[in-house]
Amino acid sequence: MHVTMVKKRLSGGAPCRKCQQAEDLLRSRGLWSRIDEIVWADEDDPSSPGMQLGQKHQVKVAPFFIVRDDDGKELVYESSLKFIKERLGEEPVKAEVSAVEPGEVEEAARSLEGSHPSEILRWGLSRFGDRLALAFSGAEDVALIHLARAGGLPFSVFTLDTGRLHPETYRYIDTVRKRYGVEIAMVSPDRTTLEPFVRRKGLFSFYDDGHEECCGIRKVEPLRRVLSGFAAWATGQRRDQSPATRGAIPVCEIDRTFSGAGGPLVKLNPLAAWTSAEVWQLLRDEEIPWNPLHERGFVSIGCEPCTRAILPGEHERAGRWWWEENTKRECGLHIGNTRAPG
Ligand code: SF4
Repeated sequence: MHVTMVKKRLSGGAPCRKCQQAEDLLRSRGLWSRIDEIVWADEDDPSSPGMQLGQKHQVKVAPFFIVRDDDGKELVYESSLKFIKERLGEEPVKAEVSAVEPGEVEEAARSLEGSHPSEILRWGLSRFGDRLALAFSGAEDVALIHLARAGGLPFSVFTLDTGRLHPETYRYIDTVRKRYGVEIAMVSPDRTTLEPFVRRKGLFSFYDDGHEECCGIRKVEPLRRVLSGFAAWATGQRRDQSPATRGAIPVCEIDRTFSGAGGPLVKLNPLAAWTSAEVWQLLRDEEIPWNPLHERGFVSIGCEPCTRAILPGEHERAGRWWWEENTKRECGLHIGNTRAPG
């Protein structure tokens, strides 16, 4: 079977939003490698290969999928969900899990406080299955992937590819992918928002007017998009990372910033009670690969222009957005940490 995905490219050069969503869905399901070929339909060029295919198969919307069987027969799918279900043998929607009640999460937070991170993850993966996603930032929260793999239950992993990560981080993500044999969905910013932003304000506006707008486009919107397909997510947040913004995070909570597929989203912080030293002990004991930037004085690692090495005695978050006040040093992914509940 050979699968061609036809995507539409808008006149500004960005892919259409629906095409990007279809790609994100395939990636988050670990199915992206099943697409053999991408063909672009340029909206203002009727002679582009994708437009020609649309004409040939009488399809007017993108994305669409052309599946050619071994006997040469071709079938066209205009629905991504139908294509996934019928041709990739996957249910497009992850296994149903019963709705979460706030009381259940509060109870889990109480009973799991003090448990080993692997126990907290096990609770989440038993409760939500692969509708729980691990957020991997390319730093020491690789511990989550290690513990989830050791637990033997299926899980999903994604990382936010802001386009501004260090080259070392990209290589490291690939090292982790190979070491654990996991698909890591690289979730990109929406180009239709990013490109005008960069045109208007350049590549370093955060040094002048703060990181919020850039983080909003490169991190928060992509995260909102990917989480809308899950019921729960697990982060590598720890209380000792930032007394100002993370000092009180529970091991399990209802996310106050993002929603999940059709309802509340559960957020697990399995490493909440661990110290940096405990995480590093695990990495060393289990020979878990780490980002080589850690050996050059980087502790909390984010985007290249917004992360610096720290000096002995400095707090680890001192190396992030160092030109801003302490209480503003979150990128919006965990903004609920600093808001009053409710
Ligand atoms: S960390 Fe810096 S480069 Fe990365 S998204 Fe935020 S402001 Fe932009």
